[in-house]
Amino acid sequence: MGVSAPPVQPSPADLNPHLHPDLLKESGQREVFCGLTSIVWLHRRMPDAFFLVVGSRTCAHLIQSAAGVMIFAEPRFGTAILGEKDLAGLADANEELDRLVKDLLERRPEIRTLFLVGSCPSEVIKLDLAKAAERLSAQLLNRVRVLNYSGSGIETTFTQGEDNALQAMLPLLPSSDEEQLLIVGTLADAVEDRFRLIFERLGITTVRSLPPRRSTDLPPIGRGTRVLLAQPFLSATARALQHRGATLLSAPYPFGVEGSRDWMAAAATAFGVPLARFAEVVDPLVERGRRALAPHREVLAGKRLFLLPDSQMEIPLARFLSRECGMELVEVGVPYLDRQLMAADLALLPADTQLSEGQDVDRQLERVRAARPDLVLCGLGLANPLEAEGIATKWSIELVFSPIHGCDQAGELAELFARPLRRRALLQLS
Ligand code: SF4
Repeated sequence: MGVSAPPVQPSPADLNPHLHPDLLKESGQREVFCGLTSIVWLHRRMPDAFFLVVGSRTCAHLIQSAAGVMIFAEPRFGTAILGEKDLAGLADANEELDRLVKDLLERRPEIRTLFLVGSCPSEVIKLDLAKAAERLSAQLLNRVRVLNYSGSGIETTFTQGEDNALQAMLPLLPSSDEEQLLIVGTLADAVEDRFRLIFERLGITTVRSLPPRRSTDLPPIGRGTRVLLAQPFLSATARALQHRGATLLSAPYPFGVEGSRDWMAAAATAFGVPLARFAEVVDPLVERGRRALAPHREVLAGKRLFLLPDSQMEIPLARFLSRECGMELVEVGVPYLDRQLMAADLALLPADTQLSEGQDVDRQLERVRAARPDLVLCGLGLANPLEAEGIATKWSIELVFSPIHGCDQAGELAELFARPLRRRALLQLS
């Protein structure tokens, strides 16, 4: 079952506007995490960085719950809790922040980059964290870089936190027109190593990543940079990179065998890799990936899936689950629809797919109940109530913490969706 046909490379212009005509736009009560949650995977990616949330006890609780057991390891994130005096404007929050940062850096001399992360409370009292970051950076010159971004629930949903964090790093990226492939978006280290090896075998020699593994190891950027997005939630970062001269490659996201193959093919085409060479390197991976998928496809094929808006990964996942696992899509919800960044995946969705953008959670839950899907992809807050109503669910947060990118991971990705259905079948049997 070799696959060496030229991969699908739809550009935004190829996306037929008459496909998916019934985009349902909703606004109302939402059931999503705020952008602070992204600290949980970003701090693992850059062990020499520290994320200091300037917020309330609610914010501290949120990160601790999201990070689970990790709070007992040496923490690389924390919360500067705004007290009543700060909120009432009676204390100089800037002075307190400076003192706290200095204490922290004395205790933790290994920190190289400090992110001051804005929250709802810091935004409401208009604490200027951008200025604070500038001031502290000047004081700590050559020792620690202090950056700022917002992870507040007012401005960001869930994975948008990573988009904001990466944007905060962009001004520090040196300019260079050197030819390179830049992978943008957090990948698990092992997955990234595998991709690098594959690109090396394809003859693409200079491959860099953003975010890097060491926060100070920042990639240069310029006209020779070709960007492959590894994650679909990086709209603002992608545009900012284009402003710095980089070319954004259009490709489906590397979920599943087909998506991963097309994603790698986009780079191969941009770097002039001969088709035969591509087939030689990638076809065996495709075959292996398809074999790993097969047992999960048996569970998933024909099952009806409803995706609630959460991580912005819904469209590429829906594409993978419908095309490679045979699932039927009832509704594909996204927090916001970036047509340019989703173009290649949208073009591969079944033409009659019901898309929805934004959320009015009660109305959406009514649609879920009416449709009685076999599986719902949703956030933690909705999962247990839906399970109690007899509807199987998959937590979307697992998808940002699990290594799911690449042909080799296609089986694992399908397994994440097959598992709740298998478990349900077992419980019904017993
Ligand atoms: S940033 Fe806002 S939404 Fe997020 S935990 Fe803090 S208060 Fe809640």
